[in-house]
Amino acid sequence: MSTPTIGVLALQGDVREHLVALADADALARPVRRPEELAGLDGLVVPGGESTTMSKLAVSFGMLEPLRAFVRAGKPVYGTCAGMIMVADKLLDAREDQETLGGVDMIVRRNAFGRQNESFEAAIEMAGIPGGPVQGVFIRAPWVESVGAAADVLATYGGHTVAVRQGNVLATSFHPELTGDHRVHAFFVAMVKAA
Ligand code: GLN
Repeated sequence: MSTPTIGVLALQGDVREHLVALADADALARPVRRPEELAGLDGLVVPGGESTTMSKLAVSFGMLEPLRAFVRAGKPVYGTCAGMIMVADKLLDAREDQETLGGVDMIVRRNAFGRQNESFEAAIEMAGIPGGPVQGVFIRAPWVESVGAAADVLATYGGHTVAVRQGNVLATSFHPELTGDHRVHAFFVAMVKAA
């Protein structure tokens, strides 16, 4: 595969930043809102934003089951922050009616880094990313409370898991799309090419 086509779920959240980061990492990137737009995608990014709103919109746009099927089919998916919440099999501190796509056998706690730290940045060493730590931008960020045996922990911060991969699904608590450094997107593009 030379240049993969990667969608960015554009129901809500920081879609534009991911489109820029993916293009910078040599992918053809396009926003996706409707089930038929999933056809022909080699991979998908689920952006940061607000997972409860994203969940509601996924239901009302008829996207929930098509997105679940996309993940189940083994297509590569990368979720950042709210996107990490969306690819978790189980949630803590979720809204009662909140849906996820699943894909990673993990329990994710929403807003885990707490009010006093609603937003902060930290240097994060992430397995698979060469060239030193990435700048982790955490905005009302979740953490991974526990992961199943099939998932690999790629990064931790303060003793908490903040990046995981299970098969073709990648998730980070932080937002690499908000930095000018697109090494994590390049890592995902490489996953898409290898899938
Ligand atoms: N706290 C948000 C949620 O629960 C995620 C925040 C983010 O994506 N920056 O969806």
